[in-house]
Amino acid sequence: MNPLRILLLGAPGSGKGTQTSKLLKKFHQLKSLSSGDILRSQIKQESPIGIEAEKYIKNGSLVPDSIMVGIITHQLEQSKWLNKQSSWLLDGFPRTIHQATALHQVIKEKANFNLVVELDVDQNVILDRIEARWVHVPSGRVYSLDYNPPKVPFKDDITGEPLTKREDDTAEVFQKRLTKYNEEIGPLKDFYSKQGILQTVSGNTSDVIYPKLENLIVNRFS
Ligand code: AMP
Repeated sequence: MNPLRILLLGAPGSGKGTQTSKLLKKFHQLKSLSSGDILRSQIKQESPIGIEAEKYIKNGSLVPDSIMVGIITHQLEQSKWLNKQSSWLLDGFPRTIHQATALHQVIKEKANFNLVVELDVDQNVILDRIEARWVHVPSGRVYSLDYNPPKVPFKDDITGEPLTKREDDTAEVFQKRLTKYNEEIGPLKDFYSKQGILQTVSGNTSDVIYPKLENLIVNRFS
């Protein structure tokens, strides 16, 4: 299989984390990086970046582009992912056109994306189900009490550690995050559409979306 370099785009709550976990199980060569998980782990460590980022995340704003571009390019370089052979998936970054162009400057010669997939989920459905979302912060594993409940209530399936509710999953903050997403997504889609690598997968549950996503990857890369 050719190297996969995938970006998942989708509204908050559209299931990017869930789709990522499923893809990692299927495509063993794939590694993933979630900007939200990196920020949450920095917050937990109370690092300077974490303390700064928390102010924005708490009220549903985006963390400034300059901070985000710095963190993610540093991670990509440190992980030695910027070469033509590596397969990886980014979840949640780039999220603005400025982030996309900045990342493009860093990776274009070495390892540009070859597939950008927008997860298209009805936003009314997302709002209904967000209340049920619980996460295991250290691993980024996401559970839904409705669709994908943990085996033991409120405990991570693998480690048994407690699940927590994200502070930014309240109805008010969540609505703000959705609005922000809707403002940013147009230019981002245009950017990748012009490169001929944008695809959209529609559905309202991860069980509907995942097979389509897997097919897309298999058909394009094997
Ligand atoms: P997520 O887990 O991807 O929904 O991210 C949670 C929060 O982290 C977002 O609501 C933003 O406040 C922040 N965040 C994550 N990724 C980015 C990004 N690429 N640019 C700006 N803020 C981000």
